[in-house]
Amino acid sequence: MNTAEAKTLPDEHGHFGPYGGMFVPETLMTALQHLEHEYRSARKDPEFRKELAALLGDFCGRPTPLYFAERLTEKLGGAKIYLKREDLLHTGAHKINNAIGQILLARRMGKTRIIAETGAGQHGVATATAAARFGFDCTIYMGAVDMERQALNVARMRFLGAKVVGVTAGQATLKEAINEAMRDWVTNVRNTHYILGSALGSHPYPMIVRDFHRVIGDETRRQILQREERLPDLLVACVGGGSNAIGFFYPFLKDEGVKLTGVEAGGDGIVRGRHAARFQGGKLGVLQGTKTWLLADDDGQIELTHSVSAGLDYAAIGPEHSYYRDSGRIDYDYATDDEALSAFRALAEIEGIIPALETAHAIAHVIKVAPKMSKDAILIANLSGRGDKDVSQAAEILLSQE
Ligand SMILES: *Cc1c(COP(=O)(O)O)cnc(C)c1O
Repeated sequence: MNTAEAKTLPDEHGHFGPYGGMFVPETLMTALQHLEHEYRSARKDPEFRKELAALLGDFCGRPTPLYFAERLTEKLGGAKIYLKREDLLHTGAHKINNAIGQILLARRMGKTRIIAETGAGQHGVATATAAARFGFDCTIYMGAVDMERQALNVARMRFLGAKVVGVTAGQATLKEAINEAMRDWVTNVRNTHYILGSALGSHPYPMIVRDFHRVIGDETRRQILQREERLPDLLVACVGGGSNAIGFFYPFLKDEGVKLTGVEAGGDGIVRGRHAARFQGGKLGVLQGTKTWLLADDDGQIELTHSVSAGLDYAAIGPEHSYYRDSGRIDYDYATDDEALSAFRALAEIEGIIPALETAHAIAHVIKVAPKMSKDAILIANLSGRGDKDVSQAAEILLSQE
């Protein structure tokens, strides 16, 4: 891959090669252009950067530690394993990096109302938190099925002052929640900013969300150079829409010696309708504002998806991931529900860290590949979030078998 090219992606129309773009109703075009304009000016504004850095520090808890997983390393007997501890951030996952960045943009644009969609509820909680911190009115759209499996996060959002609207259409998960949020935005775009939760959707969102999360990779780079005096051999992250992964990988894209692997949700295995691994059996298409790899049937109908983890259960992948998959710069693999559940248990028992079920997919991959790597190799996994929200679901599946 050409380094200069990576730096300028997306192009001025929001394309990552053949992917990305702006596939939205005409009524949203002006709002998206305004957002891009404000974002580009904010990015250069020292006051904006200073305020964002201060909030990421004192409110969110950055920098997060880079932790050497000594017992997991010993047990697997191969590469040295480090974990980037995004699970220690305020609200429990990487999502707050983006929510705080976007709330500052909303204020800058003079908006007074915030809307967002949420799958597992982590983005809803992060958005409701940011909205409370800045006194914004906040409405969160969430699939009715997800509301049930993530009841704790629904209660958190309500305590934070957000209105949580259940969506019962279709599969009643993330895709339908995004549709409802888009509908709301079209109606209320004058006073409302839509805080999109992953590196997805129409331009400029994939760029903005990536940039607000690149702090994960920037810190990791500094931390590993300080500890090991060299770059790592492999980075691993789970990929739903792809925000934690692209933020973690981005500062390493031009370091050719650093291998990058994204891990998708393999659900019950790669059987139509039973997984959410877009690069296994997916195809090129357009969904919710962007052209990218997605799971659709021969008529272009979006297929059902399944994952034990609500945060990875979505039919499309962020367009920048499709681009780097084609170029070969990032490799993609998947972990099944069962593999993720055993990794969830393993990390809890071996390291004393209960990961989110999303994150457990990345850990499952680490468990597969670390033993085959040499003892001098360095592997870093992004621990995108903590598992408190998943404990009751995991207990139902795992502890009931004992
Ligand atoms: C939302 C979430 C994910 C998946 O979203 P990405 O945009 O792919 O990062 C992964 N891990 C955790 C903990 C999450 O909350």
